[in-house]
Amino acid sequence: MDDRCNRVRGDCHRFFLGEGCRTVPLSGHVGFDSLPDQLVNKSVNHGFCFNILCVGETGLGKSTLMDTLFNTKFEGEPASHSQPGVQLKSSTYDLQESNVGLKLTVVGTVGFGDQINKEDSYKPIVEFIDAQFEAYLQEELKIKRVLHNFHDSRIHACLYFIAPTGHSLKSLDLVTMKKLDSKVNIIPIIAKSDAISKSELTKFKIKITSELVSNGVQIYQFPTDDESVAEINGTMNAHLPFAVIGSTEELKIGNKMMKARQYPWGTVQVENETHCDFVKLREMLIRVNMEDLREQTHTRHYELYRRCKLEEMGFKDTDPDSKPFSLQETYEAKRNEFLGELQKKEEEMRQMFVQRVKEKEGELKEAEKELHEKFDRLKKLHQDEKKKLEDKKKSLDDEVNAFKQRKTAAELLQSQAQQAGGSQTLKREKERKNFF
Ligand code: GDP
Repeated sequence: MDDRCNRVRGDCHRFFLGEGCRTVPLSGHVGFDSLPDQLVNKSVNHGFCFNILCVGETGLGKSTLMDTLFNTKFEGEPASHSQPGVQLKSSTYDLQESNVGLKLTVVGTVGFGDQINKEDSYKPIVEFIDAQFEAYLQEELKIKRVLHNFHDSRIHACLYFIAPTGHSLKSLDLVTMKKLDSKVNIIPIIAKSDAISKSELTKFKIKITSELVSNGVQIYQFPTDDESVAEINGTMNAHLPFAVIGSTEELKIGNKMMKARQYPWGTVQVENETHCDFVKLREMLIRVNMEDLREQTHTRHYELYRRCKLEEMGFKDTDPDSKPFSLQETYEAKRNEFLGELQKKEEEMRQMFVQRVKEKEGELKEAEKELHEKFDRLKKLHQDEKKKLEDKKKSLDDEVNAFKQRKTAAELLQSQAQQAGGSQTLKREKERKNFF
C-alpha cells in the first residue's frame, strides 16, 4: 500500500515537473478536488482500529488508566499476584465518537513481574506481538486476501508502566523494553505518579531517560516531520516519560465535576497539567499521533518482521548478480533445499533405525546366552539332585531288604522256639500222669 502511495507521489512529481506530461489549465470545475473528502468518507464508513498493549506489573494502575483514557469502564477482574507465568489477555471493544467508529483492542500482561524468576517474562509478550504480525502476513500471502475486512490485531502502541520508585528502572523493565523496541512503538509512562514528589519526579524522569539511552532502548518519538504537529510533538518528546495518574472517580472541584483522586490531605486532579501528564499522554496518544502510531506499526515494525520472515523463507529482491529475483526460482530453490533436507533427515533416521536394530539384536543375543547358561546350570543342579535322591532311595531299599531278611530269620527262630517249647510240655504232662 505504501509503495503504491510512493509510486503515486512519484508520478505526481513527474507530472508537475512536466517530464512527459504537460500541465494544462482547467477551464471549469471538474470535481476531483473532492478526492480527499472521498477518502475521509470512505475511512469513516469503514471505521478504524487501534490496539494498545499495556505492559507493567500487576497493580500499577493499567486498567484504571485505560478506563480514564477512554472515558468508560472496560470489563475485567483485578488481576491476582499469584500467576505462575505471564499471560496476555486481549479484549476488543467497539467505541463510537461522533460518527467515527473505533475498534479498540486492549491487551494486558497478566502476572507480569509477579514471579520470583522474571528472566523469561518478556518472552510471552514478544511471542504475542509476533503472532499478530504473523496473522497479518499470512493474510497478505493468501491468494484470496481480504485485508480490508481483516481484523488487524497488530499492536500499535505499547504503554510501558514504570513503577514510581523514584530510583531507577528495574532490570526487568530494561530487558523487556530492549526486547520489544524493534517490534512495537513503546511509550514509557511513570504509573501512579501521585506517589512521588515533584522534585523526585524530575530527577526520576532524567534518570529513566539516561538509562534508556545508555542501554540503547529505542522508545517511540512523536513525529516532527509534519509541520502542523512538529512543535507540539517536539515539546512533548522532551516530557517523556509521562508521569500519569488514573481515576474514573469524578469529584466536584469548584463548580465542575472532575476526574480526581481524593486523599486525606487533598485532591489530585487527573486532567490538571500541574498535577500530572495525563492530558499530555491523551493528547499525544489519541488526539495527535494515533494515525502515526498505526502507520509506524505498518511501515516500520511490521515491515521489519515481514522482511526477516520472507528472507527466512528464501525470498530476496535481487539475486547475487543484482538481477530481479524470480519467484518461481525462489520457490524451486527452496523446494529443492527442502527435499534435500528431507532426504538427509530420512537417511539419518534410516541409519539410526539400523543402529537401534543392531543394538537391540546384540542385547537380545546377550539375553539369550544368559538364559542358556542359566538353563544349563539348573539342568546340572537338577541332575545332581536326582542322583542324590536315587542313591538315597537305593540305600533305603537295601536297608528295607536287610530288615526284611532279619525279620524272616527272627520269625523262623521264634517258630522253632515255640515248637521246642511245645514238646517239652507234652513230655512233662505224660510224666505227671504216670506218677498218679
Ligand atoms: P492493574 O493491575 O495494573 O490493572 O491495576 P488497577 O488499574 O487494577 O489498579 C490497582 C489499584 O491501584 C486500584 O486500587 C486503583 O484504584 C489504584 N490506582 C490506579 N491508578 C492509580 C493512580 O494513578 N494512583 C494511585 N495512587 N492509585 C491508583
